[in-house]
Amino acid sequence: MSGIKPSVNEGRAACNVCPHGCLLAKGQVGLCRARGWRNGVVAPLSYGRLTSVALDPVEKKPLARWMSGHYLLSVGSYGCNLRCPFCQNHEIAQAGEEDVPWRYVAPDELVGIALDMRERNPRVAGIAHTYNEPLVSWEYVRDVGVLAHEVGLANTLVSNGCAEPWVIDELAPLVDAANVDLKGFSDQYYHWCGGKLSAVQECIRRLAAEPGCHLEVTCLVVPGRNDSPDEMRALAAWLASVDPDITLHVTRYFPRWKLQTPATPVRTVYELADVAREQLPHVVVGNC
Ligand code: SF4
Ligand code: SF4
Repeated sequence: MSGIKPSVNEGRAACNVCPHGCLLAKGQVGLCRARGWRNGVVAPLSYGRLTSVALDPVEKKPLARWMSGHYLLSVGSYGCNLRCPFCQNHEIAQAGEEDVPWRYVAPDELVGIALDMRERNPRVAGIAHTYNEPLVSWEYVRDVGVLAHEVGLANTLVSNGCAEPWVIDELAPLVDAANVDLKGFSDQYYHWCGGKLSAVQECIRRLAAEPGCHLEVTCLVVPGRNDSPDEMRALAAWLASVDPDITLHVTRYFPRWKLQTPATPVRTVYELADVAREQLPHVVVGNC
């Protein structure tokens, strides 16, 4: 395992969880606000600190072709390593520990809650790590996954996919289903969101190669930013080259947080879904 390595750079500690590679002095937190300096290493300060808990249908994650009709105990913390101007969950995703109320829920407690729910409703399939960006506290996803699998519960992930490959490799065997954003198909678009396209592509490749992981991908269409047929054609062709069985969700943007551009016209979403269908058999329209 690669893991977190202390840096010799003036007592600062380096984080190698995502491409930002934050170098943190004592007391500092990283760009994601979820990890920070602790005893000379960068640790997941948001580990187990839940800000949001809900029982959601799997279709809401969204997962269109996995455990249809079932539910997932969906949990989120705070923090994210991207800065999408349209962030729908900015109240928690762009927050740090002092900004939002949270409660520590240890992995065994969370799995126990999911088990209780399943006893009352056999359609509770497991747990979803979602709402903020789960990979910035990937150790919690791992630890919950180990315990969930011991009792036959699923462990699922909704993520921006912007992490270093070793993180994905650690988690992939512990993830039964995932929906990863492929927000656009240009470095320029990812620069706007504060992420890195190549890192997300590598995440998608690795999850797609994991036999036990069902993978779906979401592209939110933002007017004037990533709504050209050529970009969607290239995105879908690349996904098809990875695995033509991947389901692509083409979803409609609504104004949120810093971006007040009017919502994507419904017709544009349907037209781009048709473009994607030239390459992929499983394309779903969302938010329309
Ligand atoms: S996970 Fe957070 S602390 Fe680590 S490099 Fe990324 S933004 Fe920085
Ligand atoms: S990746 Fe998701 S949670 Fe993070 S800023 Fe973008 S939309 Fe918000």
